[in-house]
Amino acid sequence: MTIKVKKNLVSEAKYSLKCPNHMDAEYITIHNTANDASAANEISYMIGNTSSTSFHFAVDDKEVRQGIPTNRNAWHTGDGKNGTGNRKSIGVEICYSKSGGAKYKAAEKLAIKFVAQLLKERGWGINRVRKHQDWNGKYCPHRILSEGRWDEVKAAIEAELKSLGGKTSSSKKKTSYALPSGIYKVKSPMMKGASVTQIQKALAALYFYPDKGAKNNGIDGVYGPKTANAVKRFQSVSGLTADGIYGPKTKAKLEEFLK
Ligand SMILES: [Zn+2]
Repeated sequence: MTIKVKKNLVSEAKYSLKCPNHMDAEYITIHNTANDASAANEISYMIGNTSSTSFHFAVDDKEVRQGIPTNRNAWHTGDGKNGTGNRKSIGVEICYSKSGGAKYKAAEKLAIKFVAQLLKERGWGINRVRKHQDWNGKYCPHRILSEGRWDEVKAAIEAELKSLGGKTSSSKKKTSYALPSGIYKVKSPMMKGASVTQIQKALAALYFYPDKGAKNNGIDGVYGPKTANAVKRFQSVSGLTADGIYGPKTKAKLEEFLK
């Protein structure tokens, strides 16, 4: 289903302030607004104020709003007037990131779908997606970064792009995993062994690490709370019931995403 964009474009009289240059975009940059305003309010505030700061799209839990045409540059990445971020990337702000919660989650979900749609329209792969931080070091998208979920968000965009029939990079997904057919969940004593390792490795290959940064990213062959949490996060972005229990449906989804 195509996401419709509601346009509230900046007036041409303000092009010199907000979007002075023609742009042939090469990237999409993801931001968090660090605010609790709706997409409509973010855009109307941005196009109406006298600051040069600008961005193309704002996404909330209900809709996508556009304020700057995608063939004009916007000032959203802090890398200077000739910076690649500012001059070659489309800025997407995800709303409600200040307080987070369900509204933010829904906004992020819609943004993931919308970014995938932009990639598909342009014939681009996930390698075109950047976070604001990549351009000038700013801690943005702050909520995604503080929750350690950037790789996960990218994986979710890529999965969505794949479901739209878009271009995907299958570079690190060629390994096949001997995923078990049983039910795995947290119980006492913990379930452990080579089959749990396979589940963990498959999750890690899709960036859902049991314990990112820990030894071997937490791949230890034990189905504990951290593995259940990784399963839960994977289930949540792949449309399954997020219960942290590995079973046939999760197995099938993992296999689909790993193809
Ligand atoms: Zn930003």
